[in-house]
Amino acid sequence: MKRDYYEVLGLDRSASKDEIKKAYRKLAMKYHPDKNPGNEEAEEKFKEANEAYEVLSNEDKRRRYDQFGHAGVGGAGAAGGGPFGGGAGPGDFNDIFSAFNDIFGGGARGGGGSPFGFEDVFSGGGGQRRSRSAGVSGSDLKIRLKLTLEEIAKGVEKTLKIKKQIRCEECNGTGSKTGELEVCPTCQGSGEVRQASKTMFGQFVNIAACPTCGGEGRIVKDRCTACHGEGIRQGEATVKVSIPAGVEDGNYLTLRGQGNAGPRGGANGDLIVVIEEIQHKLFIRRGDDVIYNLALSYPDMVLGTKVDVPTLDGRVKLTVPASTQPNTMLRISGKGIGHLKGPGRGDHLVRVNVFVPKEVNHQDRKHLEELRKSAHLVPDEKTEHEKSFFEKARDIFG
Ligand SMILES: [Zn+2]
Ligand SMILES: [Zn+2]
Repeated sequence: MKRDYYEVLGLDRSASKDEIKKAYRKLAMKYHPDKNPGNEEAEEKFKEANEAYEVLSNEDKRRRYDQFGHAGVGGAGAAGGGPFGGGAGPGDFNDIFSAFNDIFGGGARGGGGSPFGFEDVFSGGGGQRRSRSAGVSGSDLKIRLKLTLEEIAKGVEKTLKIKKQIRCEECNGTGSKTGELEVCPTCQGSGEVRQASKTMFGQFVNIAACPTCGGEGRIVKDRCTACHGEGIRQGEATVKVSIPAGVEDGNYLTLRGQGNAGPRGGANGDLIVVIEEIQHKLFIRRGDDVIYNLALSYPDMVLGTKVDVPTLDGRVKLTVPASTQPNTMLRISGKGIGHLKGPGRGDHLVRVNVFVPKEVNHQDRKHLEELRKSAHLVPDEKTEHEKSFFEKARDIFG
């Protein structure tokens, strides 16, 4: 079980750089191997603190960790040369979340985990905790999913066709012609080797993935020719994904075990679906509300009217009351975007403004000139002056 980095340092998520540094120093002093010779627990704690500090002290890594949890910073592999490197193959961590535009995202993470998980999807990170099992896991896949505002408003089910590593049918994923594997002679099946390494605090023993078997503990003697002993091959899969209403651009959800198959029977990676909102042609999204700009004629503004306005649910009748001022926001309740957390929907907001034509024909001009003669259609200068600054600002900015 990998602990949350903030928890490791005993900090909350808003901790400042200085606080992180201080907390790390305290732990490093306490658990330093030189101070605790032969104490394995202290050594683990020391490594854990190193790893947490490595990530949280780096602005970029910290941001990714906050957003994606351990997956965002490549698990242990990216930090400190991999004291916990037994889980996944080296080199897979580098560009985990860099290749966003492509349907073939890269990346790796260890462990098994539950088959399907929504729970930590929209919580903004911190939920990624998976234990590392023996053997190499498949890497995570990342795809972008474009959604219209209509789809986001009510939630949608999507069927995605993705290219990914799937299990080789020839050898049933073992990588071996005979279906049998042998215990690795280097590590005797543990998948780990101990090696002394130098750090800024002196020398201590590191546990690393066995170089012979890559941490799997087993080796293939008679390789399957179809997959060259990997147990996986490039293939396609169809995945159904259910998107709840109210998601936002950049939200992602993790489908456990739907990523790349692991080599030689290793656990599957995850499929990470990143939401992309397609800009709507008519509406502006503001949280769970939707804003629509409506231009009306001057007579309609003064006398009031009924109009059909477009909403996410199709056209809806809207009553514009008499004497509606420019920039007035009219509200159609419950026609906005479904709340991600909890029931109900946001509202459809209609911002009303006066339409001023660029050209007028002869007859309209005559009408307008008649209108201009009316003393009641011009503002009373005195009342305008008495209006407070805030009232005026509201008139201008809505
Ligand atoms: Zn095979
Ligand atoms: Zn080995």
